[in-house]
Amino acid sequence: MSLEPVLGVDLGTTNSCVAVVLNGSVHVIPDETGDSIQASVVSFLEDGSVLVGNQARQESVVDPVNSVVSAKRLIGRSFDSEQIRSIRRSMPYRVVKGRQQESFVEIRGQKFALPEVSGMVLRRMKDIAEAYVGQPIRKAVITVPANFNDTQRQMTKLAGELAGIDVIRVINEPTAAALAYGYGDDVNARIAIYDFGGGTFDITLLDVRKNVFEVVSTAGDSFLGGDDFDDRLARYMIAAFKKQHDVALDDDPFVWGRLKHVAEKTKRELTETDKAIVMVHELAQDEAGAPLDLRFQLDRKGFGERCKDIVQRTFLICDEALRNARLTVQDLDEVVLVGGSTRMPLVREMVKQYFGREVLAEVNPDEVVAIGAAIQGAALVQDHLVEGNTGAHALLLDVAPQSLGIQSVSEIFEVLIERNAQIPCERTQVFTTTKDNQESVSIRIFQGESRIVAENTRLGEIELYGLRPAPRGQIQIEVTFEIDANGLVVVTARDLETGRAQAAHVRVSAGYDPDDIDAMRARSS
Ligand code: AMP
Repeated sequence: MSLEPVLGVDLGTTNSCVAVVLNGSVHVIPDETGDSIQASVVSFLEDGSVLVGNQARQESVVDPVNSVVSAKRLIGRSFDSEQIRSIRRSMPYRVVKGRQQESFVEIRGQKFALPEVSGMVLRRMKDIAEAYVGQPIRKAVITVPANFNDTQRQMTKLAGELAGIDVIRVINEPTAAALAYGYGDDVNARIAIYDFGGGTFDITLLDVRKNVFEVVSTAGDSFLGGDDFDDRLARYMIAAFKKQHDVALDDDPFVWGRLKHVAEKTKRELTETDKAIVMVHELAQDEAGAPLDLRFQLDRKGFGERCKDIVQRTFLICDEALRNARLTVQDLDEVVLVGGSTRMPLVREMVKQYFGREVLAEVNPDEVVAIGAAIQGAALVQDHLVEGNTGAHALLLDVAPQSLGIQSVSEIFEVLIERNAQIPCERTQVFTTTKDNQESVSIRIFQGESRIVAENTRLGEIELYGLRPAPRGQIQIEVTFEIDANGLVVVTARDLETGRAQAAHVRVSAGYDPDDIDAMRARSS
């Protein structure tokens, strides 16, 4: 009797994918129309209904104000952060501030927390999987970028919960990609995961030794991706139209949306064929009111020439990751390609040249992360092991994504758990009172690599409260900081004298109030 299958979900910025291990082999799960990739988009329609996934992608083109794209860029970030500010400038939908630093999207007068939006995408993935497998599925492994901090991981887990999913593990995307290629167990190597998606680029250097996946170095640009090729081509189309008809296309967002759509289609076509016809009907009118079309032929080489610099930018980031790890391309054993944009022949060719070697691309780059997550899910329940994939037998061990520490008196970041420490791991520290009869002690916790505390991400504050009245310095509380197998921070505290557990309450600074979370739970059920 086999156990309940576990979903492996790649919850992406642009697209998501779900896979599951059944009878020893991995299935990437298609939707009703045969599509194995879903857009990570949620559209709120006028009649109150909600579209999610590929259907919502169409809607987001015509109604961008009521459609949430790229929720992953916002999740777990504080409202005042630079990332949220830049998204508020570039995205047509409204992002508003909650009571503290948490963010909500506001659509048609209703507020949704980011985990709710991501939860809707996850629910869609779960529904697709259940229809395919023919049974309810509750458990899942969800992937996140290697540099996601505690809050972003917590909020991703909450998104799963709101989708009715028990998230049994959160793993790093590059680790999942490596697992899909059978790394782990006895297969040891130093690998580069080159992940070029729709809107983001990430490079991760991983050391895989005896089931431990250590992120040696990671770097990325969260505004560099397939979108840039589409933009480049859309602009070229505007120039071509001007040349053909001597008509300047004005700044109409609807026209721009149409051009972007055709540009993306043409880009994909040029992945398959050498030449493509760019054709857009009735893009504008001439002076007499007659419709004007845009039509020209583009070949792969010409398109490549126009876009080389975009790919070149990824190598500057690879240089940075290698430099930080004090490695050169010769030190790498393997390069794995992840993300839809790595399908482009231009990208493949240039990546090969940069790394000076053949690259691993046999596993579909859109599916490789979900496949790795499904393999890990199967390994965690010790069932449905994948034949020939040794990684499945291994309980993988990730490492702490960022250093965890507290604010010391002198505003210096006191590191308790170093970045890259194998997880799960813990560290204890004794705290005491500085005033007589002090009733509570608060400790600020941060994640990051800077010695200056303010330059790191503030995770929240631990309040040790209800302390016994005593002269200062007499109360001793031992606080244990743990990073669990998901990379999540868990804090517990104990009164050293009485041995009693002390309530340690961490309020995540970019998280939501317990009331808000209760409301989300109520809405999702
Ligand atoms: P991801 O974020 O990994 O899902 O990647 C999405 C990006 O990959 C989008 O910019 C797509 O346009 C791009 N993409 C997907 N398939 C292809 C293809 N066959 N050729 C070129 N780009 C593609």
